[in-house]
Amino acid sequence: MMNSTVLPARGLALQTAVPDAGPTPSVVAEGLTLAYAGRPVLQDLSCTLLPGQVVGLLGRNGAGKTTLLEALLGLRELQAGEVRLFDQPATRLDDAARARVGYVPQQASLFEELRAQELLDYFRSFYPRWNTARVAGLLSRWDIPRDIPIGRMSGGQQQRLSIVRALAHEPDLLVLDEPVASLDPLARRDFLRELVGEVMDRGTTVVFSTHILSDLERVAFNVAFLQAGRIAVQGPLDELLEETLEASGPEDLLVGLPAGSVLARQDGRRLLRGLRESQLPEGLVARRATLEDLFEALT
Ligand code: ADP
Repeated sequence: MMNSTVLPARGLALQTAVPDAGPTPSVVAEGLTLAYAGRPVLQDLSCTLLPGQVVGLLGRNGAGKTTLLEALLGLRELQAGEVRLFDQPATRLDDAARARVGYVPQQASLFEELRAQELLDYFRSFYPRWNTARVAGLLSRWDIPRDIPIGRMSGGQQQRLSIVRALAHEPDLLVLDEPVASLDPLARRDFLRELVGEVMDRGTTVVFSTHILSDLERVAFNVAFLQAGRIAVQGPLDELLEETLEASGPEDLLVGLPAGSVLARQDGRRLLRGLRESQLPEGLVARRATLEDLFEALT
């Protein structure tokens, strides 16, 4: 139905002092393959995340987002493939590398009888680094009550507390599985924007999953579309939108288009990449693709 294309990730935030070496990737995944009861979820999936990249992982429900995020963290047994975090095997990280990772699972189990501060004090004992001032600031700003047991907080408050817990040790890689699922639609994007602002200054690599398109707008500079067990397309969101046209018209007009320019086709419509409207043959009607077009075609 479509080409599997990985766009080069351009416009990255961090450079190293050595001009030609490039930064050590935070995550390198190669050939990840995993099936449940014969049903493939990850199929020879490869991806790389560089320091400072903020990536929104998009896919429909059941596409395998949680599976992929857990695989990246070395938490799922793979049938094939390997993940390296900070150049170490994800399943055998040493303590120093482990302390560089923050993870917010979809459903955090947060010791319901504890209060927020007690929970944070407990986790603090596991990490060599812990930013107390930042934690205090976030608890206030994100409206997390300190004086009631966690079990009596709302779902949204618990989710925010779980994120504070993951930010407190200032990770270099932050993995968030549907981090705003418990927030109402209006609050989702604002909160994500603030969260990403929090980590951007430090050059943290962030990957968060979502199936809600509005979460990405003005938040994820890079997007990755998970489809049929692979990353169908990955790249800076603004460039993807700029470079992609949605075209409709007779199929035979596509024949003369440059190889690789048809990114996806569905119901007589195609997504065309890297072409200007003036380059299209007469008879094809085109407009700039929207995020919805990309989501529909690529997930
Ligand atoms: P998403 O996060 O995109 O909604 P998931 O990664 O949770 O998707 O699930 C992807 C697919 O893998 C689903 O069909 C789900 O039922 C299946 N799956 C996930 N984990 C398991 C498991 N531990 N055992 C069996 N099937 C699983």
